[in-house]
Order: sequence, then structure tokens, then C-alpha cells
Amino acid sequence: MFGRAPKKSDNTKYYEILGVSKSASQDDLKKAYRKAAIKNHPDKGGDPEKFKELAQAYEVLSDPEKREIYDQYGEDALKEGMGGGGGGHDPFDIFQSFFGGSPFGGKDLSVYTLLKVVEAAEAVGKERVRMSFILSRFSLEDLYNGTAKKLSLSRNVICSKCKGKGSKSGASMKCASCQGSGMKVSIRHLGPSMIQQMQHPCNECKGTGETISDKDRCPQCKGEKVVGEKKVLEVVAEKGMQNGQKITFPGEADEAPDTVTGDIVFVLQQKEHPKFKRKGDDLFVEHTLTLTEALCGFHFILTHLDNRQLLIKSQPGEVIKPDSFKGINDEGMPMYQRPFMKGKMYIHFTVDFPESLTPEQSKALEAVLPPKPSMQMSEMELDECEETTLHDVNIEEEMRRKQQQQAQEAYDEDEDMHGGAQRVQCAQQ
Ligand SMILES: [Zn+2]
Ligand SMILES: [Zn+2]
Repeated sequence: MFGRAPKKSDNTKYYEILGVSKSASQDDLKKAYRKAAIKNHPDKGGDPEKFKELAQAYEVLSDPEKREIYDQYGEDALKEGMGGGGGGHDPFDIFQSFFGGSPFGGKDLSVYTLLKVVEAAEAVGKERVRMSFILSRFSLEDLYNGTAKKLSLSRNVICSKCKGKGSKSGASMKCASCQGSGMKVSIRHLGPSMIQQMQHPCNECKGTGETISDKDRCPQCKGEKVVGEKKVLEVVAEKGMQNGQKITFPGEADEAPDTVTGDIVFVLQQKEHPKFKRKGDDLFVEHTLTLTEALCGFHFILTHLDNRQLLIKSQPGEVIKPDSFKGINDEGMPMYQRPFMKGKMYIHFTVDFPESLTPEQSKALEAVLPPKPSMQMSEMELDECEETTLHDVNIEEEMRRKQQQQAQEAYDEDEDMHGGAQRVQCAQQ
């Protein structure tokens, strides 16, 4: 049902790339990918394009959710932004994660992404319900001001001509290929006395167990029982909606015979904002002051999410300390369904200190700043102290290096003990 392109896109290519059948198990996929990826690795003189294709195909088919989307809607549905099918991932990452490396990075998602189609068989007695979950991205501005976006979908609806029977007469025949069971069993010989039985949906009847004779086929749906229909949905993000909130269109998912039509559910995802961070109904913003501004006062203009210009200023005589916060009431996010109530805006201040001062500047500052603590020590006492020098340090870097060193030493010690024990044994023999 999903996609700006109504036509069903290719959904066999990935299987062909890996050289497996559409019913291949996860194990089959793994084996096929391992063999082909090693053979085609560019480090071993393989074709980089082929290597990339293999990784893409494996990434999609090894993920049951993506595979389901691919099988049903083809490559284009994944290209909408699932982050894999369109080639979003580095093929080397996929190779690495397969052979024991880092997991995949973050998913880059477009404005609307088909998350998944859930088929729940138990939900309503024995009837199947199909729900579609679609991720929709909104900016913080959208959620502050409220917005509506139109989305054009093509969904399947039951064919009106044959009422979902697929045939003119309303009759269907038992599929000859699977005897009406919808499933087929194939047998593979693994060795002289070993066979493997595999079950997969019948491809003659697409797992439905019935066929319609060519003459009897419904002219409108060509026996498919459903036809495509264009539909425009208006997704309204109300003021103050939160990340993860759902917007539901009841009964708007794909229709299919013997299935209760489920809902289309948009899952709202808030995009990162370059300036404001949101926590619930509050907004956080970073601001850096010079030392002079922190000590002697400041004012600056902050453009809000609705483009209002806020004048932010200190009180006369006020000093802003580094790493401190100030709050402004009612300038946070509007509250969901109570948009006249708003959260707070918090400003986090960083103070930029000068790198160094000239002797004249030090003197001038000392004259106006509170006096230094006096050191009650005689010349003689000072003479007895040892001189030191203060060095610049990157404390995180130094601590990390020390930890690594300790780990290495512990490892070396372990090695020594084993080595030592062997030597003792040798000496005894
Ligand atoms: Zn069949
Ligand atoms: Zn029809």
C-alpha cells in the first residue's frame, strides 16, 4: 500500500544476487553471503560493485522485518529510507558485522518510512488484521507551531467488480500444484542417506491454495482480488506532540480478502534541532559568554521556534558563573492539547575565559576585583619550599592511557605466570 510510486518494484533481485531461493532460511542466507563475500572481497581482488551488492542484499534479507517489506513491496519501499536497501550502509561495515565487528550505525530515515506491516492472526478471532506503521519525521518548529502534511498513498482495496473473489463466476478451483494447501514441500538430498524437507508457500497460487481459470478471471483485478487505489492522507502534527506519539487512521491500511482492514499508524519522530534541545515540554539552549559579558552584563537576541525575537539580558550588577543555568517561564514547548500552557526555556551558559593576560591587564584587574587571599608566610619559610611547574594536561586522555597501560601489564603478568610454570615443568622432567 505504501509508496509514492504505485507500481510494485522488483523484489527478487536480492535473492538472485545471493544465489538463493525466495524461501531460503536464515542459515542458507548466511552461508551464501559468507561464501560470496569472501570470494568477492576487494582486498582479494574481487569486484567492489559486486561486493557492495552482496552486502546490500544480505543486510536486507537477514533482517526479518526488512525482508518482509522487501518481499511485499520490493526495493523501493526500502529505499524510502529503511537505511539499507537503498545502499545507505558501507558494505565493509556489513562485512565486518557479519564476521564479528561493530554493529550498524544509526539509521538515516527520510520524512516517511514504512516501519512495518503487522499481521496479527489472533487479534480478532481467526481473522487476520493488517496494520501499517509509518514513521513520519517532523521538525521541532513543526511541533511548536503545529502543522499538517499531505501524504499520497496507494493502497489495495477489495475489487468492487468481483467483491474480492477474483473470478467472474465467484468460483475458484483448488490449486493443482499444492492440492489446495497453499504450501509445497521440496526435498533436497544432502547425502546418500540424508534428505532435507523444506516447506514453502506454493508459487502457483501464492500460498492461497486456490486458482482461477483464465477464462473466469475478473477483468478488473485480473484475478488478484484487490486493486490499487490512490489516497491522500493528511497527517496533522498538533502543537506539543511528543517524539514517538502515534497518529492513527482507522481502517486505512491495505484491504485483502478474509482480512480485517487494520489501521495506518504514523509514528512521529522529532528531528534534531541545531539550536534547541527538547526535554518533555522544556527547551534547552546553549549560550557562550565572554568573560567581560559574564562579569559586566550582556544582552543578545534569540530567535524562537515561531520566529519571535527574544531579548535575553542580565540584571544590572549580575555575574554569570560558568556552567550555570537561567530559566525563562512560558517559553518552552506548548503542552499537547493545552497549547496555551507552555514549558520553560533553560539557557546553559558557558564562559569563554581569555587564554592569558598582559602584566598591565593583571594589575588593572587586581585593582578592581576582590583581593587575593594573603599568604601568611615569611621569606624564610618560602625559601624552604620546593619550586614546582604546572603543566597543561588533557586529563581524560591521560586517564585513558593509564587504564590501557594497566590492562597491558595485567596481561603481561598473566603470560609470565604461564610461561614460568612451563619452565618449572620442563626443569622437573
Ligand atoms: Zn498452490
Ligand atoms: Zn475483481
